[in-house]
Amino acid sequence: MLGQMMTQPLLISSLIDHAQRYHGQTEIISVETDGTVTETNWSEIAVNARRLASALTRLGLEPQDRVGTLAWNNRRHLEIYYATSGAGYVCHTVNPRLFPEQLTYIINHAQDRVLFFDATFIPLVAALHGALTDVHHFVLMGPRSDEAAAQIPDLKFYDELIETGDAAFEWPELDENTASGLCYTSGTTGHPKGVLYSHRSTVLHSFASNTRDVIGFSAMDVVMPVVPMFHVNAWGSPYACAMSGSRLVLPGPDLHGEALVNLIDTYGVTLAMGVPTIWQGLLAHAAKCGTSLKSLERTVIGGAACPPSMMDIFRNKYGVDTVHAWGMSEMSPLGTANHPLAKHLVLPLDEQHLIRLSQGRPPFGVELKIVDDDGNDLPHDGETQGDLMVRGHWVLDSYFLLQDQDLLQDGWFATGDVATLDADGYMTIRDRSKDIIKSGGEWISSVELENIAVAHPKLATAAVVGVPHPKWDERPLLVAVRAEGENPSEEEVLAFFEGKIAKWQIPDKVVFVDALPLNATGKVLKRNLRSDFKDALAG
Ligand code: ADP
Repeated sequence: MLGQMMTQPLLISSLIDHAQRYHGQTEIISVETDGTVTETNWSEIAVNARRLASALTRLGLEPQDRVGTLAWNNRRHLEIYYATSGAGYVCHTVNPRLFPEQLTYIINHAQDRVLFFDATFIPLVAALHGALTDVHHFVLMGPRSDEAAAQIPDLKFYDELIETGDAAFEWPELDENTASGLCYTSGTTGHPKGVLYSHRSTVLHSFASNTRDVIGFSAMDVVMPVVPMFHVNAWGSPYACAMSGSRLVLPGPDLHGEALVNLIDTYGVTLAMGVPTIWQGLLAHAAKCGTSLKSLERTVIGGAACPPSMMDIFRNKYGVDTVHAWGMSEMSPLGTANHPLAKHLVLPLDEQHLIRLSQGRPPFGVELKIVDDDGNDLPHDGETQGDLMVRGHWVLDSYFLLQDQDLLQDGWFATGDVATLDADGYMTIRDRSKDIIKSGGEWISSVELENIAVAHPKLATAAVVGVPHPKWDERPLLVAVRAEGENPSEEEVLAFFEGKIAKWQIPDKVVFVDALPLNATGKVLKRNLRSDFKDALAG
């Protein structure tokens, strides 16, 4: 016997319809590429999304055609998200910080038919133009610009294109498993690989992120996604915030501390999301200008391990709760978020704070386990570490257009992270498997050493890598950037580790550099450090 309930497909168009109907006047603040600020709302976004969907259909796009974007977090990008997926095309957000050869590879591999881009990227698109084999329409996200038109043949302009569309466009009734979005992972080895999301996975991911123990966006919130819309869909916030009817502050291209502090204070941001490097800049500026970040209630920090010292500053100085979250492109991206359990609330505060340091526990819809090198399950005792495996409703099962894949192991996806899990499901990332330091048969977590180093008041930032060592195979090397106006010695920095970890885990050496090499998503490029300093401990 079947249940006798309505069956409706889970579609991205239903998210924007909901936001328009029940939160139409709710504001969306958008910092444009030229720095001006536009105020719009969910209703206007929804109307423009329909007009754009209609205009794209009139351009002759076929169902499931890919539409690329090279764009910041702004209102037009939000409209493109809904117009493309809603109409049955695939929204392919491209990370503009990648190298030109990688961009060409990704856009060609995805066979993007249309490419939307912000004015910042006119020179980039002008340079790539001839190499992009499948792009039929180049669209500048703004009004007509003769200067831009002179640089790119047959250039179209967003504000003119939507004029050709019909605001009464009807969203098609798609199968919920239809592809909706595409993101390529940074591809630290080999070519970048595409993760193809579906309407169903995206809507289920939004439901999960809207639960209180994940992010729990609310119609009371003013949400600022600092994490780019070209990086795993700004962690799904453009979808989840339409579901919850949150106000949005889209910060545009300037992600420096000063710009972000101004946006938080001007628009009363209550909830902001981003990677630790972004918050370093924000906290440095907040300290300098003396703001109390009065409106800010919560920050969601993920993408890389959040140092405990950063959580302390947010909590103690600004009264801001930090939700440490973990995920990856292959998981849409949310895998875990750190919130306490009821039983923790009776513990002394410092013990509660310790529990908040890990990457948290999975919501319903994601399952985690750890395995050894032979794929055997390892205990969830909070101590044994192993390769982290996941499965769930918004986890990929294969990469886009790659042949001969045997990606899953008994239905589980190997994340490439090494982690511990405890009995309540709290997961702690020890390292990425390729970054863990193997010293004489023992494993040292580079994350743990970095967390200590960045708490040193005279260091701005730091990374730890394993480098070859004649006796121990590999030993940790600390690569550090001094804080402005400070000049700590190597001895002083190494002494800071004493008493905080076992003596044999303390780095062998410190090298000071002016800046750490970062990849396109703001993460430290450890493989560059490993090769730059490969002889640092030789002989
Ligand atoms: P890539 O960097 O390969 O493009 P993602 O941007 O999807 O991939 O990043 C996923 C990886 O980032 C995870 O596998 C994990 O190693 C790391 N990561 C994400 N969040 C955290 C976190 N809170 N703590 C530690 N590592 C994290």
